[in-house]
Amino acid sequence: MMGGPLYPPGTGRQVKVMKDYRKSRENASASPERMIVKGEAIRDWEQAQQAFGESEARYRKLYEQARKEEQLYRSLIHSSADAIVIYDMEGRARYVSPSFSEVFGWSLEELEGRQIPFLPGFEKDRTMAIITDLIENGTPCRGFETRRFTKDGRLLDMSISASRYDDHQGKPAGMLVMLRDISERKRLEAQLRKAQKMEAIGTLAGGVAHDFNNILQVISGYVEILLLNKGKEDPDSEKLGAVARSVDKASDLVRQLLTFSREVESELGMVDLNQEVKQVSGMLERAIPKMVHIELALNPDLEAVSGDPVQIQQIMMNLAVNARDAMPEGGTLSFRTEKVFLDDRYCRIHLGVTPGEYALLTISDTGQGMDEEVMEHLFEPFFTTKDTGGGTGLGLATVYGIVENHGGYITCDSRPGAGTTFKIYLPLFKQASMGETGRRDRNLQRGGETILVVEDEPHIRELGEELLQEFGYKVLTSPDGKSALDLYAGKARDIDLVILDLIMPGMGGRRCLEEIIKINPEAKVLIASGHQPMGSTEGILAAAKGFVTKPYKLKQMLGKVREVLDGDDAGPA
Ligand code: ADP
Ligand code: MG
Repeated sequence: MMGGPLYPPGTGRQVKVMKDYRKSRENASASPERMIVKGEAIRDWEQAQQAFGESEARYRKLYEQARKEEQLYRSLIHSSADAIVIYDMEGRARYVSPSFSEVFGWSLEELEGRQIPFLPGFEKDRTMAIITDLIENGTPCRGFETRRFTKDGRLLDMSISASRYDDHQGKPAGMLVMLRDISERKRLEAQLRKAQKMEAIGTLAGGVAHDFNNILQVISGYVEILLLNKGKEDPDSEKLGAVARSVDKASDLVRQLLTFSREVESELGMVDLNQEVKQVSGMLERAIPKMVHIELALNPDLEAVSGDPVQIQQIMMNLAVNARDAMPEGGTLSFRTEKVFLDDRYCRIHLGVTPGEYALLTISDTGQGMDEEVMEHLFEPFFTTKDTGGGTGLGLATVYGIVENHGGYITCDSRPGAGTTFKIYLPLFKQASMGETGRRDRNLQRGGETILVVEDEPHIRELGEELLQEFGYKVLTSPDGKSALDLYAGKARDIDLVILDLIMPGMGGRRCLEEIIKINPEAKVLIASGHQPMGSTEGILAAAKGFVTKPYKLKQMLGKVREVLDGDDAGPA
């Protein structure tokens, strides 16, 4: 079709002029009035010649024009970013454009006169319906989204537009098909959908966990007070111990949920990733069965990453436990570290990644792998394929939350029977001056200072009051920021410490803190919150002397109180 010229030079009109001329010559030689006739014949001849010349010029011009147009179309098709195929009525390729060869890998020589073997079985019905409608009724097809194989067996997402072309008699002669590779767009759409889903689940889980946390706070606080007041020999103390252990378990679950929904702040500092891997693999050697071999491939020149060592270990432990579960018959669990540069191209096809240098931690196992269905829900909280009691489905959700909190990025690659590989990209440490946070155990120390507890939740307020009184403190309470401020304004000199809830109706903790600092720039304030607030070391919150997370352990709370009262500024921890 693209081979020969579209308008051949010989035409009916030209032939007719020649015939007329020959006829007039024959007539001329047969008649007696030859001279006259001859004169006419000469005139005819000249006219004919002129007409012939004109028509020839006209057709040459038309031909040239057509040829130029054809060249234009040819170069359009040639340079089009979309892959273009011209089919005959039998569905054989007559032409494929260079970009077709680029995208799919077959050359024109390989395909000309053949059917292109790129239609996956599962797309056959949909595709055939469209082709039939196109050939039989001439219905053009626009933006048909489907998938096609490449020569090397990759499956690409395609948007296809096609139209029928007819021969000079108006009979259907074949199809002109344009295929646009939309794999990248599809991949980004899928990533975006997933990110939005995770965000929504995170908000939901975070909200539930937050409320649960407050409830657990109250339970665990009272249990601890009861336990303190009862001797070991008291028959109830064992039962109370069981309650305390259950509360611990529940708090653990809630903490994982809070981590997933990124409501637990990471304490980012300088972390030697190799060191953490070695430490975790040491623990694993003892904890996982002997049939699982642990392999390390650590790049000794790896720079420090910006991370929270406890959380980074948590990532490795969670992944290792899953790997162990996936290799009941044994296998290899390997850890690898290296430095990578994620360039613009990588970031274009991976949503939410910024270009730059990262430390890459690769954790792979040779276990049973996963199918697509499992991969789809992998990081969602409570998604588990393990029997009841076998898994909580929070392992990977926690990993996900931690990685996100680190400004990192995680990918998973797995196939049934072919093992699993997780890749975790962590940003390298940039700020060299990030202070270490030291915590010291104050072991239930008593005190006599005056503490103002500001908390809107009555149970938690009363609990705080009782707990602190139990250890000798004088306690004032306020149910909201406004009344706390009034109280503080009147007694600023008598109040040694304020324990301030961050989220309260009306005047929130932030505003309240701001106002307290205005009254007394030296004020000692501890922020009590279900989670350490994001960006806690910035802005007004930096003015607080520390944080206690809820549900706080008696020991932690008392330790923190002493730390701040004694004036060793441990910074927010
Ligand atoms: P849990 O381990 O409690 O089931 P996770 O969030 O840790 O929850 O994992 C969720 C699911 O992902 C697992 O139930 C399992 O089906 C799958 N999975 C995770 N890691 C692996 C792995 N290394 N190999 C095979 N399947 C895995
Ligand atoms: Mg798990």
